Amino acid sequence: RAKNDQRGQYCYYTTEMEQDTRQRLTLLHDLRAAIDARKLKLFYQPQISLHDGRPVGAEALIRWPVDTGAFIPPDQFIGLAEYSGMIIELGDWVMRVACEQAQQWTELGFPWMRIAVNVSVVQFRNPDFVASVDRVLKETRIEPARLELEITESVAMQGAANVEPILQQLKALGVTLAIDDFGTGFSSLSYLQRLPVDRLKIDRAFVRDMGTQSERSSIADMIVRLGHELGLTVIAEGVESPQHVNALKQIGCEEAQGFYYSRPLPANDFLAWLAPFKM
Ligand code: C2E
Ligand code: MG
Ligand code: MG
Ligand code: MG
Repeated sequence: RAKNDQRGQYCYYTTEMEQDTRQRLTLLHDLRAAIDARKLKLFYQPQISLHDGRPVGAEALIRWPVDTGAFIPPDQFIGLAEYSGMIIELGDWVMRVACEQAQQWTELGFPWMRIAVNVSVVQFRNPDFVASVDRVLKETRIEPARLELEITESVAMQGAANVEPILQQLKALGVTLAIDDFGTGFSSLSYLQRLPVDRLKIDRAFVRDMGTQSERSSIADMIVRLGHELGLTVIAEGVESPQHVNALKQIGCEEAQGFYYSRPLPANDFLAWLAPFKM
């Protein structure tokens, strides 16, 4: 006879697949409820100029706090939000809150701070995406260049005929464009050259071993040289140690982001972190 699980449903005969589906549905239901209850938060992680050690911007990273005080990491629910289409609404919310935050930084004396926002492939493919970016820019009145959209290398390079025109349209709005997790995909260099992007973001897999003699650390060097060849600035993610910082400076990387400087912080803590940099 089937046993009861906590919800009083029979689960003995359920296959693993059905259980998996049920878990996903539960998570989706919880995510919907969390969005409606405005429980989702943005955390901010500084991006640092390697020239002078000052913050030039921050990346907004979504957090889903749960009652225990912990939070469900984005990797565990972004995919589901994409699958269900909820990411359109969520992504819009992220952009809006992030731009409002950047406007607050301006009011508080940090007008140069950029705000980087991650864009999901589902948002990017949504025909309304460019219009939604335009809407957020107008409604928050942020200077467009201060909004940086991060598109992963795999999305930028999927070769789909319309990636380039969409990036052109975004660029025409005046926003800054960065390619996230660079080095993990299979970029066609001639194609990359055509894309109107401003920045490459070295994936942390290639930062991890920097300062040691490893092949992966020389990939960071190649990415920086490639970026400069194409007239792009380069930022490294996952910077965790002074060794990383020194190695990145040596290869001419412009900017860095990682635990060495700060973990992603809630808005208030981020402001406290930022305070000493007021000019
Ligand atoms: P990502 O855009 O590549 O973000 C960088 C991730 O690396 C973040 O994880 C960040 O907390 C983490 N990180 C930062 N510094 C370090 C470091 O020094 N060492 C290590 N080991 N990790 C570091 P997080 O916040 O868990 O986000 C994971 C991914 O989820 C992000 O990767 C991004 O792809 C996605 N994501 C986060 N927020 C959003 C969002 O608002 N919208 C969308 N579409 N995706 C998001
Ligand atoms: Mg990112
Ligand atoms: Mg990244
Ligand atoms: Mg990454």
